[in-house]
Amino acid sequence: MSARRKLIAGNWKMNGLRADGTALAKGLAAKLAAGPAPACDLLVCPPFTLIVPVVEAVAGSALAVGGQDCHAKTSGAHTGDTSPAMLADLGCRYAIVGHSERRTDHAEIDAQVKAKAEAALAAGLIAIVCIGETLAQRDAGQTLEVNRSQLVGSLPDGATPENTVVAYEPVWAIGTGRVATPAQAQEVHAAIRAELVKKLGAAAAAGMRILYGGSMKPDNARELLALPDVDGGLIGGASLKVADFWAIAESC
Ligand code: PEP
Repeated sequence: MSARRKLIAGNWKMNGLRADGTALAKGLAAKLAAGPAPACDLLVCPPFTLIVPVVEAVAGSALAVGGQDCHAKTSGAHTGDTSPAMLADLGCRYAIVGHSERRTDHAEIDAQVKAKAEAALAAGLIAIVCIGETLAQRDAGQTLEVNRSQLVGSLPDGATPENTVVAYEPVWAIGTGRVATPAQAQEVHAAIRAELVKKLGAAAAAGMRILYGGSMKPDNARELLALPDVDGGLIGGASLKVADFWAIAESC
């Protein structure tokens, strides 16, 4: 029996105006208030513009709020960026780093992701470190090596089960409706955990949560979340609807 409490995290990406974000956050807070609470931690990561209204909307509930990215510095001449200290100041508890859309759209590399994760930890946030292979890499038989290398390159120094979460997100499954099979997901999650044993030791590796992300929906969540090394989900599209996100959480 795993002692790891599952985490269901919503990545809203660049979606929603104030009314949408507030309604979604209030809808989830109302579900939590009505009970029974699902057997997992719940997190939403709105766009930066919605963090304040969402934090206000979920005040007093167990729903945590996080950023979708952060800078590696606390302050300075970095136009358009947001520091982890700023996220923490708004009431965020988590920051996603290294999402494949950041790696693709902003050419982020492992060293930057690691620096961002370390800055998040220094600000008291929990870093969610994303890794995952492309379809071409999977087809070339490179899946385990790509994920191993991204993990080693992106994991922050000082990572513990309390301050760091790993998210395995096969790029070919994100937003495509094509989900990893349970066997594919478990194979990579187990390999990630084995690498964590080497890097952090057996106890820390056993306690660290590894989320699956990539077209997780209410109809496939239960099977994925039942896998021995899948400790929750990072949910994109299905996190934008209260009923879908809640149904996934209830699958834990
Ligand atoms: C994501 O953005 O991290 C993600 C997993 O998206 P989706 O659930 O839409 O595939």
